[in-house]
Amino acid sequence: PLGEEIKVNDFVETKSVSDAYNKTLKRLRQLDDSRQQFVSNVSHELKTPITSIRVLADSLMSQEDVPVELYREFMGDISEEIDRESQIIEDLLTLVRMDKSSTELNVTQINVNDLLEATLKRLRPIAQQKNVELVLESFRPVLAELDKTKFTLAISNLVENAIKYNNQDGWVKVSLNADHKFFYVKVADNGIGIPEEAQEHVFERFYRVDKARSRAAGGTGLGLAITRSIVYSHHGAIKLYSRENEGTTFTVRIPLIYIA
Ligand code: ADP
Repeated sequence: PLGEEIKVNDFVETKSVSDAYNKTLKRLRQLDDSRQQFVSNVSHELKTPITSIRVLADSLMSQEDVPVELYREFMGDISEEIDRESQIIEDLLTLVRMDKSSTELNVTQINVNDLLEATLKRLRPIAQQKNVELVLESFRPVLAELDKTKFTLAISNLVENAIKYNNQDGWVKVSLNADHKFFYVKVADNGIGIPEEAQEHVFERFYRVDKARSRAAGGTGLGLAITRSIVYSHHGAIKLYSRENEGTTFTVRIPLIYIA
């Protein structure tokens, strides 16, 4: 019937209608695929700590007299898995909230130099564990309209990664600059770097170059997805430059004035 209804159109128009239809259908299928993929990833990620907890608990329960040291060790492991599960849920909630209310930012005028200084101060103890030097270079004073909590989270994720994926005695340099339109925050490290083929995927939810390393460092694979979503909601852009075994630089660019 659809074909008959458009039979008055000439061939070119008929074709363009069906082209548009096919395009929309293709896009809907892609969206559905990525949704399904996301749900399946979420289920998998949430199940992993639960499976470990199950194994640890079963193993404790199946033994008659569990030596107290073993009991403590297993309970410690269970406690770690619970923390992990909580972290995944917390990150997921942040992401979902960002997706839903990307326009609902709680924007105030923020001194970005102060924000970065406070962020680095908070992360310094983590850097010290690996003897990683953490430096801030502020080239200009910057005042901008930002959601302080969210923007702090976006930058913290980048700095935490720069520490996590670094070597013992490495460095992380955070710099702030601006021109008449934008301000720029660069987070540079001399860590392990990101292989070229992985660079286009690192912002995807749950993508990690090295699962074991991410997990050992307490990662959930959601940090960069959250950061990008926060940057986008501030009408900004994020890019990365990286070379394996040399280091990585993420640059965040935010417009100094935008209409919310
Ligand atoms: P995770 O929780 O695994 O750190 P992210 O979304 O923050 O998840 O990062 C995704 C992946 O990108 C990480 O697992 C890591 O492989 C890679 N990555 C992120 N930042 C860096 C960095 N500064 N240096 C090297 N690799 C990085």
